[in-house]
Amino acid sequence: MNFPNPVRHLNIILGDQLDANSALFDDFDPAEDLIWMAETLEEASHVWNHKIRLSFFFSAMRHFRDQQLTLGHKALYHALSIDPSADRGKNFAEILEKDLETLQVEKIRMVMPGDFRVKQMLQALADDKNLDLQILPDRHFYVSPEIFSAHSKGRQNLVMEFFYREQRKRFDVLIDPEGRPEGGSWNYDDQNRESFGKKGPQDLPSTPTFLPDVVTREVMDMVEQRFTHHPGELESFDWPVTAESAQQALDDFIQHRLPNFGRYEDAMWQEEALLFHSRLSALLNVKLLDPRSCVDAAVAAYHSGKAPLHSVEGFVRQILGWREFIRGIYLQEMPGYADGNALQCTDRNVPTFFWDGETDMACVADCMQSVLKLAWSHHIPRLMVLGQFSLLLGVHPYKFHQWHMAMYADAIDWVSLPNTLGMSQFGDGGIVGTKPYCASGNYINKMSNYCRGCKYDYKKSHGENACPFTTLYWDFLDRHHDRFAKNPRMKFQMNHLKKKSAVDMSAIRNQAETLRRNIDNGVRF
Ligand code: SF4
Repeated sequence: MNFPNPVRHLNIILGDQLDANSALFDDFDPAEDLIWMAETLEEASHVWNHKIRLSFFFSAMRHFRDQQLTLGHKALYHALSIDPSADRGKNFAEILEKDLETLQVEKIRMVMPGDFRVKQMLQALADDKNLDLQILPDRHFYVSPEIFSAHSKGRQNLVMEFFYREQRKRFDVLIDPEGRPEGGSWNYDDQNRESFGKKGPQDLPSTPTFLPDVVTREVMDMVEQRFTHHPGELESFDWPVTAESAQQALDDFIQHRLPNFGRYEDAMWQEEALLFHSRLSALLNVKLLDPRSCVDAAVAAYHSGKAPLHSVEGFVRQILGWREFIRGIYLQEMPGYADGNALQCTDRNVPTFFWDGETDMACVADCMQSVLKLAWSHHIPRLMVLGQFSLLLGVHPYKFHQWHMAMYADAIDWVSLPNTLGMSQFGDGGIVGTKPYCASGNYINKMSNYCRGCKYDYKKSHGENACPFTTLYWDFLDRHHDRFAKNPRMKFQMNHLKKKSAVDMSAIRNQAETLRRNIDNGVRF
């Protein structure tokens, strides 16, 4: 392909910036401008990426490139191949530096990256080459960094709920003609915590599948051969990889799952990973889907009587509230945020079975199956099973984030770090959430059918077959007693801790210590 030379604007597009309406295209001139994209070994392996995650990103990138070519745009695209010796460099900077030797580039442009590390790397290269790197605003998001700064200015603590209400009003989402929240309440959480009961989930809609096309199969072959030892399975790859198929996934969710989404938002069930969830997060995070289309479609379903308000509001809160809130936190708090370790964990890594799912804990084993097969699980397996196990065990919060980045197709630094290090592991000391998310095996029993078939007993905190969650939960409260004793949101849990006898607590501490030693020695349980 003949590229323009000189290049007026070299437009870098990263794997999580596949937005055909981004600011880069406002004044794109095919005669003078060039799209630049690269699959890099460093992005594929600086964390040990799941094979589905790699295939999803590379396939979506190649499809995006092809779509741009059909528009008459020119693209310089570096694909990874099976042969490592064909690599042009190991990271964005090395590859781009080589291209800059042959292209005369007047200006490099990109939309604000979702990973601070990548931004720093490219800025350093531009400085080194004395080139202008223009960072354009990411219009994909509802809330700009300026709006978030204005919201957070002067507040001692940031609370998602207040931020969310402000955005509902600002963007006129689920607001009635009198300016009040639709239905009279800002939040319907109390209707969104049902479990499936003994009978289990009824009338689950069939799962939409998006079979790999030729482009995706080529990527999967490369990943299978080049990243053989990476975790995960490719057999069941069924992710949408184009904006069109992402829209189909959204339509399917709105029609078939949204009506029951809210009611069973927190429930889990063995071998049923998707349930009434959307699995749209990865599509949103690589920008194949626009958050406004998701919110507008859900609100339209409510107004046409196809979905109840509590489901729609729960879905809107995830996108307009939580997603925008944590992006604001990331942009505001980085780079120091990544160092957060408020509970002073050692450098303990995630357990061995977080990579292969081989454990006798039925809940962890099943949640890991969905991660290995889909590179995805919904928020409760992440937060209250896998995340909670790491928290209670004392895994270093950044190591949990690295594991999450490796294993989930929807993980990008800006979204993963505040969710994992912050919300799940309390590493930020309370910026994202005011208390750690922790519970005994009792919670998992209430929200799933896992405990029925498990060799452990969720009611037992020590002794033979005691549930590791229950042991580690009491041990966690005990170890961090001084920090949480005065936290009003932990009062109920701390009062229960006080009722434990000294004999019980001594047995719990010993058993927790044995569990931790076993984890550190790679012993499975
Ligand atoms: Fe998980 Fe404990 Fe229940 Fe087993 S008993 S499924 S380990 S919570």
